[in-house]
Amino acid sequence: MSDLFIECKYIIAGSDCNTIIRDGAIIIENNQIVAVGKTEEVKKLLAGHDKLERTNHIAIPSYINAHTHLPETLLRGICDNEKLDTWLNDFIWPFEMRMSSEDAYYGALLGCLELIEAGVAGFIDQYFYAESIEKAVTEAGIRALLCPSVFDNTPESGNLDNTWKHVRNLVSSKASNKNNLINYGIGPHAPYSVPEDCLLEIKDLAAKYSIPIHIHLNEIVKEVEEAKEKLGDTPIEYIHKIGLTEEKILGAHCVHTTDREREIMRKSNFTVLHNPQSNLKMTSGIAPIYKYLDLGIDVAVGTDGNASNNDLGMIEELTTSAMLQKYLANNPKVMENANVLKLGTIYGMKALGTESKGISENSIADITILSLEKSHWWPQNDPLSNLIYSSSSSDVTDLIVNGKGVYLNKEHQSLDKERIIEKCSSIAHKILTEMGN
Ligand SMILES: [Zn+2]
Repeated sequence: MSDLFIECKYIIAGSDCNTIIRDGAIIIENNQIVAVGKTEEVKKLLAGHDKLERTNHIAIPSYINAHTHLPETLLRGICDNEKLDTWLNDFIWPFEMRMSSEDAYYGALLGCLELIEAGVAGFIDQYFYAESIEKAVTEAGIRALLCPSVFDNTPESGNLDNTWKHVRNLVSSKASNKNNLINYGIGPHAPYSVPEDCLLEIKDLAAKYSIPIHIHLNEIVKEVEEAKEKLGDTPIEYIHKIGLTEEKILGAHCVHTTDREREIMRKSNFTVLHNPQSNLKMTSGIAPIYKYLDLGIDVAVGTDGNASNNDLGMIEELTTSAMLQKYLANNPKVMENANVLKLGTIYGMKALGTESKGISENSIADITILSLEKSHWWPQNDPLSNLIYSSSSSDVTDLIVNGKGVYLNKEHQSLDKERIIEKCSSIAHKILTEMGN
């Protein structure tokens, strides 16, 4: 497909996601939005573009899923009713230790299918087998910030020393070669699972290549209490004390934080990756996102892996996030609709390392289109309200990433869905049989 002319009933435009254009159109050339406005105005500029007529649809900036473990699609539904430590030790890690790089590749392809169908243009990942994930994402044609996991005992490289050597070589070779759609960061699993000397070497690598450190922080109360005992500080104070916060930190969860930690976050280059549904399901708690936003701390929203959520859709995640913050703050005025959308789109792109001005001229052409056909879209008193509180990921009909249609009229343009689903079902069955399930 070459340049595009998209016609929609509504467009949520502007870098603040608060301008609604009725009967609008967007022109895309290469990977940029070059015009957006009322259809009759934009049409005058039109010359030789492929036309997407979506006149019973709404166009919005594409979602970014800011925290995933993509091949975990294979683990979907294997354990729904345990707390984080039992869930990890007895279910997730035993399954993952049996995964091959090819299994991870297919799991990542299934993740890409799911993201695309939910209108998600990119994701921030932390997992082993990063090269298999890269291969899948390259085929899918979406964005990713891949942060290879560092922790003891991975199926890819075994113990911590070997894992760290492998990750250091991989990240060094990838980070100096910046790509349009796929970039690398580094993913120490958590302060409780990676020793200090290794964290310090990770910091040096992040500084050398100016790449972010993607790490789980302050997810559950027990983890915070154990950090105080074993590391002498709460997790965020600890990583600050050893100098990690001199680099860009993508901190997944940050559910239980103190005033002192929030001060550290505010003063550092720190983005909270908020995963409300995973935190609820694992009974970890509710992160005080409204406080972070008040303090000017960057926040983006993710789903976490499929083993703990169990889907990658961002519409439902953002609805949950908005409702939880209203409850936590005991104030329905927090999480205003346009800001909720920004958390899942423009702020996600920022966390990914790409500047987006949403659907605006000279912004990157990542656009999600949803059908207004379902009854839950009517009446259309406020299309943005309908998007946040009554729509669903299954309304998505099209996804444009970097100017290219990867999903058009609910048809995948880049991936073979049937083959991927079949392959993933047999991999999951094989591993669960080995585990004796
Ligand atoms: Zn996670």
